[in-house]
Amino acid sequence: MNFELAHTPVEYIKGVGPKRGELLRKELNIHTLNDLLHHFPFRYVDRTTFHTISQIKSTEIDIQIVGKFKSIQETKTKSGRRILTGVFYDDTGNVEVTWFQGLKLLKDFIKLDTPYILFGKPNYFNGTYSFIHPELEERPGVGQQMTSKLQPVYSTTEKLTSVGLNSKGISKIIQNALELIKGKWQEVLPFDFIEKHQLISREDAFFYIHFPQSEEQLQKARQRLKFEELFFIQISVVWQKMLVSQNNKGFIFKEIHNHLRTFYHQKLPYKLTNAQIRVLREIRADVTSGKQMNRLLQGDVGSGKTLVALQAMLMAVDAGFQACMMAPTEILAQQHYQTIGEMLYGLPVTVKLLTGSTKTAERREIHRMLSDGSLHILIGTHALIEDTVAFKNLGLAVIDEQHRFGVEQRGKLWKKNTNPPHILVMTATPIPRTLAMTLYGDLEVSVIDELPPGRKPVATYHVTEAHRLRLFGFMKSEIAKGRQVYVVYPLIEESEKLDLLALEQGIESLQRAFPLPDYQFSVVHGRMSPEEKAHEMERFVKGISNIMVATTVIEVGVNVPNATVMVIENAERFGLSQLHQLRGRVGRGAEKSYCILVTGNKLSSDAKVRIDTMCRTNDGFEIAEIDLQLRGPGDIMGTRQSGLVNMKIANLATDQLLVQVTRDAALALYKDDPKLTKPEHRPTLLYYQHLYASSASYAKIS
Ligand code: ADP
Ligand code: MG
Repeated sequence: MNFELAHTPVEYIKGVGPKRGELLRKELNIHTLNDLLHHFPFRYVDRTTFHTISQIKSTEIDIQIVGKFKSIQETKTKSGRRILTGVFYDDTGNVEVTWFQGLKLLKDFIKLDTPYILFGKPNYFNGTYSFIHPELEERPGVGQQMTSKLQPVYSTTEKLTSVGLNSKGISKIIQNALELIKGKWQEVLPFDFIEKHQLISREDAFFYIHFPQSEEQLQKARQRLKFEELFFIQISVVWQKMLVSQNNKGFIFKEIHNHLRTFYHQKLPYKLTNAQIRVLREIRADVTSGKQMNRLLQGDVGSGKTLVALQAMLMAVDAGFQACMMAPTEILAQQHYQTIGEMLYGLPVTVKLLTGSTKTAERREIHRMLSDGSLHILIGTHALIEDTVAFKNLGLAVIDEQHRFGVEQRGKLWKKNTNPPHILVMTATPIPRTLAMTLYGDLEVSVIDELPPGRKPVATYHVTEAHRLRLFGFMKSEIAKGRQVYVVYPLIEESEKLDLLALEQGIESLQRAFPLPDYQFSVVHGRMSPEEKAHEMERFVKGISNIMVATTVIEVGVNVPNATVMVIENAERFGLSQLHQLRGRVGRGAEKSYCILVTGNKLSSDAKVRIDTMCRTNDGFEIAEIDLQLRGPGDIMGTRQSGLVNMKIANLATDQLLVQVTRDAALALYKDDPKLTKPEHRPTLLYYQHLYASSASYAKIS
């Protein structure tokens, strides 16, 4: 589009003016002509199909009938109101038609025995159908074009309706806007892309999306506009990524691999899975490339990400650098410290733990060892990114459970060195690939898509309160075999008091059913101090307690292979990915494991889908896809900041193929013309700058 015209304030469009313009701004955030043209219809009324009067069968949908008026007359209702009634007929029957408003215009318009198209929703009363306030159009003669067949329906507001901008009114001013720029459109996509992807022109697309003459035109318009929307998002993502990788030279980890080799041959407790090997190869390629690594490692719960992280850290240490690993909770940091410490036992690699509860003396020691380089690996919580923590030469930073951290925290780790360290972020909340590509577009993505051998899927069952006794019996039989059990309660901030009450009551009834001294409990919830939590956790890890009752604080990371039962109370209140995370706490050992979802009797339809999905599959990626469909991308971590929720027509959940296609297209464009300096790409550049004018960081091409 001609960009100056695109910026035309909406009030200058014919039919708008200052008053309506003001309201359009306030109510629908429509400021310019461009905004108005992006106010797409949310549905269309089918004007391609005709009914006969005898075919009227329901009052559900708007239908249209070709017929003539037998009679038309103005009368008064009992309350004295003037109305217009007529009898409309075709070859198959008659219907009564009534209007309350606009009588004068209608009386002049309607002629007896002249064909009209009547359009509206039928009413049903006393066994007969009738129409109240239908639309009426003169039937076009043969060869004459009918006005739009699929009528657009626009969202609007009460205030806008009161100034005449109901759906029809909006349609009218959009028509005027389209008139205004008719013939002055400028293409914004490179022509070879348009050809290659068989897209229609921009002008046609905007015309057809608002006034489609057929389903086919509408589809083409949608395709083109979705492509455009996603393409420009991908341009920003791809360019951002290139900017990052160009500006940041990465440390080169020379492939000495002393410790790594020793670890591999002497310490590795099992064979790596093929997926782990592949990901390690990808990481090695990154850290020897001379560019800074920014890699997202996705792997389902229990897929063995920690081991990959450890080996990556050894690569750093072997090359003479330090490495750190940040976890979102104290429990998890502690656990990493323990497992990694055990695995490295006997190797000359120093490892320390730094959390909020690290004592001052130990803290001082850590600071000293960090700055003189005698500390190789530091594991910890947010405490790692405090300003006082300074490394001698940090070469690699690993972030576990990335979705628990904000983008700023990742940024802080970067700054721990003048030259940013290599970054490996890990997440067990699988994000569908296309979304990951867009959200974390500046990251390379690795996937561990394979679980260690011998893992059996966790058998998942849905029960209600009625099965409580059987459930307790089952827990007892597992405990009798020497296994351990988790019982998890929701704790949501908004209803914290009620939730704590439920937790207390739950603990009470459990303690009645599982009496001391035969059964031992650990209790962990967010209100406890880190020391208390650690103590309770430890009792469970060591197998002293049989039952761990917890709120969702145990959601991430905890690894107790002997635990075989995960009971989730009020499971309907958890999101899908949370349920999947929780389930991932069991099934980590060789024994068969179970996940029991306890819910009330009545479930919302979404809750039902979540529970059914959990019972049906253990596949984290499939679950992530369904989660995305249920919640939309807006609720997925990170989307809000990214602005992706403001998408007008494309949908990251349903248009995944197109995300991939536009991603490839943006990459191809980058390869061909990284600064968009070729004359044929000028309109693309201009439009890009126009789109991202307000967010400076993304507009940085050139
Ligand atoms: P996550 O990816 O969820 O962080 P972990 O790294 O905690 O998973 O690993 C889960 C469990 O699987 C751990 O007990 C770990 O020792 C074990 N594990 C990791 N890799 C393998 C492997 N290749 N073969 C067998 N067990 C493995
Ligand atoms: Mg983990």
